[in-house]
Amino acid sequence: MSMAARSDIGVNASFFQKLASGVPGVLFIYWLSADGESHRCPYISEHVQGLFGIAPTDLNENADPIFSMIHPEDYDAVVQSIRESSETLSVWNYRARVRLQSGGYEWFEVTSEPERQPDGSTLWYGQFHNIQHYKNLEQSLRQSEAEFSFQAGFQRLIARLSTEFINLGFGTIDQCIDELLRTIGQFFQVDRAFLFSFSEDYGVMTNTHEWCRDGVEGLIDTQPQISTEKFLWWRKQIEGMVSGSRVVFIEDVDRLPEEAESERLWLQEQGVSSLFSVPIRVRGRVTGFFGVVSMRRRTWRLDQADLLIIVSGLLSGALERNRLEEELLSQSIRDPLTGLHNRRYLMPRLDEMLARSNRRGERFALAIFDIDHFKSINDSIGHLGGDYVLQRFAAILVSHTRSMDVVVRFGGEEFIVVFSALESTDVRRFVKRILEAVQEEAFVFDDAGIEVTASAGVAGIDEFVDCPASPDALIAAADHRLYLAKEAGRNCFVDASGTLRI
Ligand code: GH3
Ligand code: MG
Ligand code: MG
Repeated sequence: MSMAARSDIGVNASFFQKLASGVPGVLFIYWLSADGESHRCPYISEHVQGLFGIAPTDLNENADPIFSMIHPEDYDAVVQSIRESSETLSVWNYRARVRLQSGGYEWFEVTSEPERQPDGSTLWYGQFHNIQHYKNLEQSLRQSEAEFSFQAGFQRLIARLSTEFINLGFGTIDQCIDELLRTIGQFFQVDRAFLFSFSEDYGVMTNTHEWCRDGVEGLIDTQPQISTEKFLWWRKQIEGMVSGSRVVFIEDVDRLPEEAESERLWLQEQGVSSLFSVPIRVRGRVTGFFGVVSMRRRTWRLDQADLLIIVSGLLSGALERNRLEEELLSQSIRDPLTGLHNRRYLMPRLDEMLARSNRRGERFALAIFDIDHFKSINDSIGHLGGDYVLQRFAAILVSHTRSMDVVVRFGGEEFIVVFSALESTDVRRFVKRILEAVQEEAFVFDDAGIEVTASAGVAGIDEFVDCPASPDALIAAADHRLYLAKEAGRNCFVDASGTLRI
């Protein structure tokens, strides 16, 4: 031991050198004085020269040159690890970054056994070697673990969202889309996520759904509709979305091309830094787009577009199903012959109107129309002729009512019109006009002119002051007056004020 401490390995020197040169790490003997003030390497293998550009002999009297190569952030901890090893006489094992001759830092690991000397100083016999390769592996392992957990998180998210969309109850698609935008927005850490729908000619985009991160201002209320008229560059992007199903990615709004100046200014005004948008396709046609924006500069994943395309696929599927359900619903609440709503549509609407009337005193009146002697019309011109009369009659009803009124085919040749927010004198005027129009209409079927008249019974919600109103009670009251109108000779109507002839 004292032999080594004196750096005297005598005749065995060349033997040691040969042995050490075959070991991949750096072999050393390190000495630290009892007061910890001085240190040196009585022996260190030639490798230090190649690795750090330090001659072994430069370390024989003072180990500072090698310590000066330790990364500043690791230096104190290395010194501390030596102190601990010296105090406890336990193995000195530590990892730190050391600067190479080439200038870059790489990770090294030291393993060395301490031995206390009679004078209180300590000697370590050991080696250190480059572990950069393991550090790299560790790093890439961490990255792939992070990547794996990201992918797994994304898969879980998509699975949950698609389950939600599959189990979508009718009429809940909007909440579901809002939830999707929120979840996706948070997952990708964007500032806003949105869904736009295009008008038929792609000239107007309507913001239908939006999610904003806390503190980010939304657009859906202030700019629900955006005309693409002055956004020529964006129109080209829309073309790309529509014809090529392309994703639009603006990585840096500030670096948009010259021709996109309007778009740039508009986005900059909102503080948008980057934007992603993906077309939404319903029944093969691009009907809108889904997108996310980030206010701050950020890096995007290389597969970001692929991931957002998956999300847009979910949205497309949900919107497509919703469209189908709406069509089915509309089929079930419409009469195929006249295109008018039917009884199934009327009843819930009457419930709503009654509730509003109870709450806010909104008035409305219900009129039942019935074509006079319809059986004989059928008998004279046949069932198809009868159908034609029904269609023309329905058209007259629609053209003589307002969009806020509810017009339904209630039964065979019975129709109901609910007039909302009208005084009873105005209701009378409307009903009278309708019956006059029917009388004046030239019904011609198979070259034969047909005389058509109708009768009506009218009841207003304001008549129900003493007894509780219900849709059925209102209809029954109007129906009773229709009966009275038929009794009174037809082509007339009866309301609370009596019979009015046409
Ligand atoms: P009133 O003046 O008393 O109303 O006499 P009316 O002949 O109209 O009497 P009623 O209401 O009983 O007759 C309705 C007829 O309408 C009976 C039915 O054959 C016919 N009808 C019902 N639905 C249709 C339909 O979809 N098309 C045709 N062409 N006829 C229908
Ligand atoms: Mg009838
Ligand atoms: Mg009839």
